[in-house]
Amino acid sequence: MAKATVAIVGRPNVGKSTLFNRLVGGRRAIVEGEPNVTRDRIYGEAEWLDRTFNVIDTGGIVPRDSDEIKNKIKYQAELAMEEADVILFVVDSRTGMTGIDQEIAQLLYRTNKEVLLVVNKVEDFSNQQEISWEFYSLGFGDPILISAEHGKNTGELLEKISAELPEYEEDEDKREAINIAVIGKPNVGKSSLINHLVGENRVIVSDMPGTTRDAVDTLIEWKDIKFNFIDTAGLRRKSRVKESIEYYSNLRALKSVDRSDAVLMMIDATKGVSDQDKKIAGYAHDEGKAMVIAINKWDLMKKDSKTMKRYTDEVYYELKFLNYVPITYISALTGERIDEMLSLLEYVVDQSNLRIKTGVLNEVISEAVQLREPPSRKGKRLKLYYGSQVGVKPPTFVFFVNDPNLMHFAYQRYLENVLREAFGYVGNPLNFKLKQRK
Ligand code: GDP
Ligand code: GDP
Repeated sequence: MAKATVAIVGRPNVGKSTLFNRLVGGRRAIVEGEPNVTRDRIYGEAEWLDRTFNVIDTGGIVPRDSDEIKNKIKYQAELAMEEADVILFVVDSRTGMTGIDQEIAQLLYRTNKEVLLVVNKVEDFSNQQEISWEFYSLGFGDPILISAEHGKNTGELLEKISAELPEYEEDEDKREAINIAVIGKPNVGKSSLINHLVGENRVIVSDMPGTTRDAVDTLIEWKDIKFNFIDTAGLRRKSRVKESIEYYSNLRALKSVDRSDAVLMMIDATKGVSDQDKKIAGYAHDEGKAMVIAINKWDLMKKDSKTMKRYTDEVYYELKFLNYVPITYISALTGERIDEMLSLLEYVVDQSNLRIKTGVLNEVISEAVQLREPPSRKGKRLKLYYGSQVGVKPPTFVFFVNDPNLMHFAYQRYLENVLREAFGYVGNPLNFKLKQRK
């Protein structure tokens, strides 16, 4: 199911990032080191009861060429209006309402998205009427009073957010389909690939982007399998905020990864792996997504019998942490190996659901332990009592050990390789959890 998005706006220092951290908690969030991003964490996932939603801290995103606070805020408000389903407009009870708050309100009047007015830094909840009073004039109804820092009333805020979140039920065709996020830099050939697929296969649905869509979905049928390709490329030119094109497409790429069963990472054969590719692939890896790497425009390469092998080595060198991901060499232009690519996608999704019985798993593990002794520290050796696969998508394992601190990265790598050799899990990251058993 696609997730709804909540964006936080407000002038500097009102507590946006504090609120973001409170909502997202310890959960993973990313996008660091982007040129127009000033915080480590601006995109994350929050959970309330049975709903999860994405949160964007727009305060971390700044226009590239402007230090002026007005421009920053305009940019952030526009980002929120474009990307979010619900906007949290944060103000500060300590400073009261300011001119900039009023300007932000003016910008937000133009949106048809839900806006919740949040008054932060409230310490004393006994005189709520009085605090609320001056903020009514901003025109967004009853403010919600909170303290982001102390976590006061944030439950109520979450409840209000939940009530405003749209339902994103996928239709039946899409639920049955394998959802593939098509990821890759501009010009890598994403649209060409989708056009090729549309030309060769039965097309069930091809969505045009609506107001709440981040991507164009193309649902096709191939050998009785339904694939839904999620392509974020087509939308990037529509953005109202011109400077943010790169940032937008990245954010949308992340969202499409979130709702995918597998990621199709496209790399331009003539260009190789970029830093941007690495980041998004890293995100997909951390999110436990199945993946296939397609090296596109292979028709343009001068080849001999070793080119493919060399290229593969190079890609695995650049993307070390993805050594489990199958690579295929395609041409969206000529259609070369597109069938193989589709088979691989089906295969890695199948593998993401692979579940190995505890008995079989432990036979393999005890053999592995005999072949290579577990690490020890200060005379104490790691003991692996037993392991169990506790989940799929991604395959997740719990190992009961004498002391989790004795596990070493290299040894975990070894066990991972043993499991892959024995069972496959092709194209899927493995999630290991260690539990102490006395
Ligand atoms: P941003 O610029 O809007 O992202 O604001 P920050 O989240 O960085 O917060 C600005 C300052 O306000 C920081 O020093 C926070 O510790 C403080 N702050 C945030 N929330 C609260 C709160 O609920 N109460 C109080 N007293 N201070 C807060
Ligand atoms: P997108 O931005 O990722 O959607 O990329 P496009 O599909 O628009 O492709 C960018 C350019 O690369 C276009 O000129 C395509 O014709 C070209 N292109 C895409 N795939 C291939 C391919 O496999 N081989 C060759 N030679 N050109 C390709």
